[in-house]
Amino acid sequence: MRRFVIGNVRSPVGVGRLQHPFQEFREFVAEDQPLAPLTWFRLGGPAAYFAKPRTVDDLRGLLRRAVEAEVPFKLLGGGTNVLVRDEGVAGLVVHMESPFFSDVKIEGERILAGAAVPLTALISQAARAGLAGLEVLTGIPGTVGGALRGNAGSRQGAIGPFVGRATVLDASYEVQVRERDDLSFVGRESNLDEPVILSAEFELSAEDPEAVVRRMRRIWIVKKENQPYGHQSAGCVFKNPSPDVSAGTLIDQA
Ligand SMILES: Cc1cc2nc3c(=O)[nH]c(=O)nc-3n(C[C@H](O)[C@H](O)[C@H](O)COP(=O)(O)OP(=O)(O)OC[C@H]3O[C@@H](n4cnc5c(N)ncnc54)[C@H](O)[C@@H]3O)c2cc1C
Repeated sequence: MRRFVIGNVRSPVGVGRLQHPFQEFREFVAEDQPLAPLTWFRLGGPAAYFAKPRTVDDLRGLLRRAVEAEVPFKLLGGGTNVLVRDEGVAGLVVHMESPFFSDVKIEGERILAGAAVPLTALISQAARAGLAGLEVLTGIPGTVGGALRGNAGSRQGAIGPFVGRATVLDASYEVQVRERDDLSFVGRESNLDEPVILSAEFELSAEDPEAVVRRMRRIWIVKKENQPYGHQSAGCVFKNPSPDVSAGTLIDQA
């Protein structure tokens, strides 16, 4: 498991704290926002600037401004796979938790989900609608955005094979749709490496909802037996040596 560290100790160029680089975005940009409550580990210092954009247009304007002002930025999803340094983040942290990024739509055997949708909500909505596949992710905390970035998964399967397409903001902060043929998910990595993942469409298969829910329960029981669950648990901390060999298995065998 790769854990992402956020926090740059050095002040970013151009961030004079007297002159607010995000003056025109003050409605949704705060200063000195504590990040610890937003992370699983409840650790780390504040973000110099912290934004909760309400729409894609907010987000695009904000990121373009950050580039102009030479303020580095990081995305924060559910904060379950990040460690924030005690010194905090000298740049901008973007938290996409607004309703705009939290929508779930079911169309036939497809589900469209925004990046901020919690995985648990996505899995249970799919199960209730009698759509099978995503239940393999039962017990994995975090959001759709974080899960796509790191191809979240376990022995039961990963998110990657269910992604039909993903909508992202590219390096020019334009909205782009990336189709399945162009996507790659290997181990705990994906090639969705654009600055922002906005949403994804999942292709699932129809099945009796009760059967899907039963599978969810079974996976949850196995997960809880193998891994203590709660704020004291860090999940899998060690990086797997290869996609086929898990660090956990090697530790168990040692
Ligand atoms: C107890 C526990 C159990 C876990 N079990 C598993 C497991 O079984 N399998 C597994 O794969 N993982 C597991 N994890 C790790 C974690 O849950 C997953 O990696 C999860 O997918 C991270 O999602 P997040 O929303 O919390 O992302 P965050 O931790 O907030 O971010 C992770 C990375 O994704 C980036 N990111 C987040 N959202 C976006 C976005 N919208 N656009 C672009 N980049 C974005 C962030 O910048 C960061 O680099 C576990 C963690 C814990 C604490």
